[in-house]
Amino acid sequence: MSHSFYPKFEEKIERGEFSFHPFLASWIRKKFQLDLNIPLSVKEFSCIEQNCPIFTTQVTIHLLNPIHIKFMREKEKINKIDLQTTLIC
Ligand SMILES: [Zn+2]
Repeated sequence: MSHSFYPKFEEKIERGEFSFHPFLASWIRKKFQLDLNIPLSVKEFSCIEQNCPIFTTQVTIHLLNPIHIKFMREKEKINKIDLQTTLIC
């Protein structure tokens, strides 16, 4: 079964944490050894079918060559293990 996604949420931050998650930005900065002034952004996609539980969340690290990280999860529910096993695309 396939899912069609639409963008449900977007946020970009210059520093600190995302509004929806207390640690995610810090985890990413640490894992990728980023300077504190590198902006991060997030896009959360939801399936167009109501009640379908499938979400994807894409985090972008705004380097000269941006890095996109994809999580198969709602943005609030991303945990440290997701970050270890994540797909970089
Ligand atoms: Zn779906």
